[in-house]
Amino acid sequence: MTTECTLAALNRLDREDYEAVQQLLDTCTATLLDPALWIWMIGLTLLCMLIGALIGWPRGRFWAGLLWGALLGPIGWLIVGFSKPNLPECPECGHRNARSAKVCRGCGVDLRRAGQRSQRSVTRGQSAGKGW
Ligand SMILES: [Zn+2]
Repeated sequence: MTTECTLAALNRLDREDYEAVQQLLDTCTATLLDPALWIWMIGLTLLCMLIGALIGWPRGRFWAGLLWGALLGPIGWLIVGFSKPNLPECPECGHRNARSAKVCRGCGVDLRRAGQRSQRSVTRGQSAGKGW
C-alpha cells in the first residue's frame, strides 16, 4: 500500500494503527526533504530577489528591493515600486537624478557646482531631509 502526503490521507488515517501513522509520517518527511522542492523554493526566492532589485535599482533602492523581493515576492515588488525614490534632488529644479549624475536631467545644471553655490539649495536640502 502506498501512502501519499495529503490532507485526505491524513483524514483517512486510523490513529490507532501505529504502522499507518508511521508510514504517513515517513512519506510526508520524504516529501518535505525532496531536493527538487528545495531547489524550486531557493530558485524562486532568488528570482524574486532579482526582480525586486531590478525594480529598486533605478529608484536608488537596490538593497531594499532585494530584501522585499526575497521576503514578500510580488508584494515586495509593489512596496519597492511605489516607495519614494531614494535619489538626490537637484538643488535648482527638484528633479531626482542618479547619484553618479554630474548634470541634472531636468534642467541641465552642473550638480556639483549647484550644490556648492546655491544658498537656496542648502536650506531646501535641510528642510527636505529633516523636520517632523
Ligand atoms: Zn535640475
